[in-house]
Amino acid sequence: MHEMALTEGILRLLEEQATTQRFHHVRTVWLEIGELSTVDPEALRFCFEAIRSGTVAEGAALEIIRTPGQAYCMDCANAVHVGQRYDPCPDCGGDSLQVTGGDEMRVKEVEVE
Ligand SMILES: [Zn+2]
Repeated sequence: MHEMALTEGILRLLEEQATTQRFHHVRTVWLEIGELSTVDPEALRFCFEAIRSGTVAEGAALEIIRTPGQAYCMDCANAVHVGQRYDPCPDCGGDSLQVTGGDEMRVKEVEVE
């Protein structure tokens, strides 16, 4: 389960930001998880709740935003929405899609105090 490593990375980032931006506590974290990323949002939430104690994010809420998968179809030259990696083009059924977005995870915003 790589969500644990990802969660540790997020908490490390928050700890670093707490030092450089001089805040003491994180109230809410908005996390964007692309539809095409390999991150399981529920597993990530579970990890976050399991290891946030003792960090700046102790008791913090985690808001997960799913960003849509986007791709460019080289067969019909359209920008299309894809729900899963390796899905065919929804417009022409072609399989020459290049993923252009929605395959990442990032911290979008943090509410601190
Ligand atoms: Zn197409």
